[in-house]
Amino acid sequence: MQQLQQISNRIFYLPPYQETDRPVLGAIVGDKKTVLIDSGNSSSHAKLFLSQLEERHIKADWLVLTHWHWDHVFGMREMQMPIISHAMTYQEIKQLQQLSWEDNALDQRVEAGIEIPFCADAIKAELGNDRTILLPDPDIAFEGGMKLHLGGLTCVMEHVGGDHSSDSIIIYIPEEKVLFLGDCLYANLYAEKWNYTIETARQLVEKIEKYDAETVFLSHHEAPLNKTEFESFIQLLKNTAELTEKHKGNDEAIAEELSKQLQRELNELEIETVGFFVNGYSG
Ligand SMILES: [Zn+2]
Repeated sequence: MQQLQQISNRIFYLPPYQETDRPVLGAIVGDKKTVLIDSGNSSSHAKLFLSQLEERHIKADWLVLTHWHWDHVFGMREMQMPIISHAMTYQEIKQLQQLSWEDNALDQRVEAGIEIPFCADAIKAELGNDRTILLPDPDIAFEGGMKLHLGGLTCVMEHVGGDHSSDSIIIYIPEEKVLFLGDCLYANLYAEKWNYTIETARQLVEKIEKYDAETVFLSHHEAPLNKTEFESFIQLLKNTAELTEKHKGNDEAIAEELSKQLQRELNELEIETVGFFVNGYSG
C-alpha cells in the first residue's frame, strides 16, 4: 500500500503504484488553504489518500486535475470539495461520463483502437467488479492559467498541452520550488505507435523549462526528479527533437549522433525517446 510522503512541511504526496497505474497524488498545504492534485484512479485510491491526509490533520479545500485521463479522475466523487480543471479537461470529463467501464465495453473500445490495452487491464484490476464510475463536473474551468493563494504559498497553474494529452496543465509552487508536471512529459499513448512530435514537444519544453524547480513530480515516476535529473530529461527531449528533424526520422542516425553527443552508449530512456520521436515523425 502506498504511504504518504512529506518533502517539506507544506508538500505531501502519495507515490504511484505501477500495477494498476495509480499516479502520484499531491497535497499543497498553505497557511489558509490546501490544494490536492489529482483524484486518483478509483474511489479506493482517493480514500487511501484522504485518510492518510486526515491522520495528519490535513483537510483540503480544492482539487486540481492535471488532465482528463482515467487514472487521474476516477476518484473524483470521493473528493467533497470544489474541483478545478482546464476547460478542455472539463469537456473530456463530460465525454467520459457517457462511457461504460464493464468488460465488454472496454474490450470493444480496445478493439476499435480508442482505448489502450494496458489501461483497460489496469481499470479491470483496480476497480474489480464495481465498475460504477461517478464523475462530477469540475466546478471551475480555466483557460491559459490561474493562481491560487493558499496563505504563504502560491499555486501557479498553467496550461502546457503536449503530445501525451493536449489539456495538460502543470502546477508550480514558487515558494517551495516544486513543480507537478502530471503526465505532460510522457509520449502520446493514444496512438497506434506511442509517439512524440517535434513541434509539440518543442512548445511544451519551452513552456516548462522557465520554471525554477528543485523538485519535479512526474505522475508515474516512483520518486520526484531533482533539478539535474529534470534538466537532463528536458535536454534529452530537445536534442532528440533536433536530431529527428536533422536526420528526417532515421532511427539509426539519430541514435548514433545522440550517443556521440553524450559520449557513451544510450540508456533505456534515451533509446525509448528516440523511438517515440521516430514514431511521431511525419516528414
Ligand atoms: Zn495521462
